[in-house]
Parts: sequence; structure tokens; C-alpha cells
Amino acid sequence: MIFDTIAAISTPLGEGAIAIIRLSGDEAFKIADKVFRAPSGKRLAEEKSHTIHYGHIIDPDTEQIVEEVMVSIMRGPKTFTREDVVEINCHGGLVTVNKVLQLVVRNGARIAEPGEFTKRAFLNGRIDLSQAEAVMDLIRAKTDRAMNMALGQMEGRLSKLINKLRQEIIETLAHVEVNIDYPEYDDVEEMTHQMLIEKGTYVKKEIEKLLLTSSQGKILREGLSTVIIGRPNVGKSSLLNSLVQENKAIVTDIPGTTRDVIEEYVNVRGVPLRLVDTAGIRETEDIVERIGVERSRQVLKEADLILLVLNYHEELLDDDLQLFEVTKDMDIIVIVNKTDLSQRIDLEKVKELAGNRPVVTTSLLEEKGIDELEEAISTLFFQGNVQSGDLTYVSNSRHISLLTEAEKAIDDALTGVHSGVPIDIVQIDLTRCWELLGEIIGDAVHESLIDQLFSQFCLGK
Ligand code: GDP
Ligand code: ZN
Repeated sequence: MIFDTIAAISTPLGEGAIAIIRLSGDEAFKIADKVFRAPSGKRLAEEKSHTIHYGHIIDPDTEQIVEEVMVSIMRGPKTFTREDVVEINCHGGLVTVNKVLQLVVRNGARIAEPGEFTKRAFLNGRIDLSQAEAVMDLIRAKTDRAMNMALGQMEGRLSKLINKLRQEIIETLAHVEVNIDYPEYDDVEEMTHQMLIEKGTYVKKEIEKLLLTSSQGKILREGLSTVIIGRPNVGKSSLLNSLVQENKAIVTDIPGTTRDVIEEYVNVRGVPLRLVDTAGIRETEDIVERIGVERSRQVLKEADLILLVLNYHEELLDDDLQLFEVTKDMDIIVIVNKTDLSQRIDLEKVKELAGNRPVVTTSLLEEKGIDELEEAISTLFFQGNVQSGDLTYVSNSRHISLLTEAEKAIDDALTGVHSGVPIDIVQIDLTRCWELLGEIIGDAVHESLIDQLFSQFCLGK
């Protein structure tokens, strides 16, 4: 495929000081040479691929120096877009960077549309659709873990698995085909049934596994919705503060007067916590009293994580017990705060109430125990039921809905086989499952869907 040469500012993740202008297309070298001058006078087009060159960006009309730069040149197809790519690394501010971009555009490049680089990579067969979407997630990734997940997807883990499942379905479909073509052979029918059930069950299980990871994936992208509960004055706001590490929440000495209004988003060892305000309960002390046991159970259930704070310096009260009661069977971490004061709480009793859920002691005043708390949060999240290092996460909502549909299709096929539905009906469900899985990796996707997907990308990627 031949495209015009596109350009955009494409600043790398986490680096604010350097801005990169990326050019991609047949004329990338030619255009760059018009505005770039190396001390040696050598043209970029004469240089070896995948090399970096020092020099200046000049305005060819005036020969005036605009910026001092490092330029990377990469010839296709060994590039992200499979086209010739030039990256101009500028260190100046936004004004200079924009000037360089304008120069490049005046000399033959076109400003890239959002996601156009990635779209080209896809259209040139460099990456498949799920990888392209992973790039988009990468751009948006808020934490290291989320970024790793996006990277894992980019490496094609999900695609590999999907391809494998599709292969299984194709094999089964081939058998079904034989069965339809030669209905007179009884043992073929028997074998086909056997195979349909075996492979179908396998495919269904794998899809289910993938769907199980989706809530985890969603959490990584959107944050673990977290609620802090406890009696008045136990240290909820202080905890919030030490988690946020900025004094955005208001801390007071007067019981019950704490009112925190801003929603917070914190990153605890790669676990994004979204301190949520479900019905005003991000930090709450009177939830049970206010809305009743059943209703508060319901509300708290919506949280992914509950931090239950107790006072080390006071005996356990009925209100504390009630909070344990309300959070029974939920993911909670018990925090016994104010260890700098004398002990009045029965720690054994607390551990008993917590069961197998973590109990951490802290003195938020003396900044003690916060590491242990963060460790507990991280452990709870990353070593729980579904999560493990090499698991393939599904976090994209388009993937989730396609997988859900695919699961239904394979389930229909299986039900069909079991209840003796004609094989060509089963074939329809199988084919549908195959197609739905294909849509995840961009096989047989409608053009407009592709356009819609890529238009969501940030500029410059
Ligand atoms: P909340 O009502 O549960 O939100 O509690 P706050 O965070 O507003 O804290 C109530 C009071 O306890 C404030 O005066 C805090 O400074 C104090 N406090 C919080 N954590 C500790 C601690 O670890 N030790 C001591 N001694 N005081 C604390
Ligand atoms: Zn408070």
C-alpha cells in the first residue's frame, strides 16, 4: 500500500523534556533532508537505517537554525508502520516543537490524524487489531501494571490465544463439512459429535477463562474502587491523606466533622485505587446508621476494596462489630490505627473477626505501618483468584462483548449437539463463534469499524 507521508508530535510516555516529531511514509527521508543539516553535510537518505544523527533543523527559506536535534532514521519495513520513519528529537519547548512540525508540513508532510500511525501499522500488516488497541491502551495507561498489561497484549498474547481457538473451530468445521457431504457414514457422524463436544467444550472453557480476567483488566484500567470505613475519629481522613500524600482531604480534631469532597486517584505499588464516592461513602463512619445494614451491605458490595479502620487506643465497640458484620465475605483490609498510643483494643479478637483477611497496624501520626498496608493492598490484588503474572488479561470493552457473544455462540453449538439439532444448524453457530473471535483480532472487520477505532487514538501515535 502507498500512503502520503504523515507527521505528528509524538511525545514518549513519562518523558516531558523531549518531544519527538515522527514522520512516516515514502517521502519521510526526503522531507527530513529538506529541513535537517548535519555538521558533516551528509544527507539522511545516504545514511544507514536505524541510526541516530546529530544536527540542526533549519528553515530552508531563510537557512536560519530553528532547533538543535537528534534524528533517528529507520527504513521500512522494519519499523512500527512498516514505512520509512524519521523521528526528530527536539528538546525545546512547545513553541519550537510546533515550529519544527510546521516546517516539516511546509515541506511535504501532512499532519497525522489521531491514531494514524497505528492505523498504518495495522493496514500494512505490522500488527493486528487487538495489538493496535493495546497501543491505544498503552497511551492511556495510568500505572505501570496497566502498562505491562497493554504491552503484553501488544506482544500478541491475546491474538495468539484467539488464533488457537479459531484453529480448533476450523478443524471441527472441517469435520462437520465431511459429515454433511457424506451423511451415509455412521461412524463419521459419531466422530463428528465426539469432536464437536470435545473441541466445543475446550473453546468455551478458554473463552470463559478470558472473560474471568476481564474484571481484573477493567480494574487495572479504571482503578480499584476503594472505600474507607470506620467510626468517627479513628483516622479515616488521615489514612486517605497518607494514601494521597497530599493534604486534599480535610483532617479535623472534632469527631464527625470531616468532610472530604474531592475524588482521589492514587497508585499503590502499581495498583490504581480510585477512592470512590458511592452515595457519599468514600470515607464513611455512619453508613450503617444512615442507610441500614442491608442497604449498606449492598452499597459496600459495589466497592472493590474496603479499608476498615479501627482505633488501637479504644476497645472494640458495637459499631466496630457492626462494620465487620456488614463487610462479611467482602475484600477488606483491617487497619488498626494509633499504635503510638496505649493499647486498649483486643487484637486477638480483631484477627478473629478478620478471619483470613489482612490486619495491619498503623500509626498514621508517626507514619508507621503504611508500607505494610501498601504491601497488603498489592498482595490482595495481585495474588488473588484470577491474577498471575503470565495471565492474558482482557480489558477492552469491545473484546469483552465479542467474547461474550462468542461464548454464547459456542454454547448454542454445544446445546445443539446434545439435543440432536441438525448438524448444519450447529455449523452456523460454530461459524459465528469463529467470526466473532476473528473480529477481536481484526480479521474480517468492516472498514467503518476500523476507522471508528483508530479515530479514538491520541494524536501522534
Ligand atoms: P476520621 O474521623 O476517622 O476521619 O479521623 P481523622 O483522620 O480525622 O483523625 C482524627 C484525629 O485522630 C485527628 O486529630 C488525627 O490527627 C488523629 N490521628 C490520626 N491518626 C493517628 C495516629 O496514628 N495516632 C494518633 N495519636 N492520632 C491520630
Ligand atoms: Zn474523616
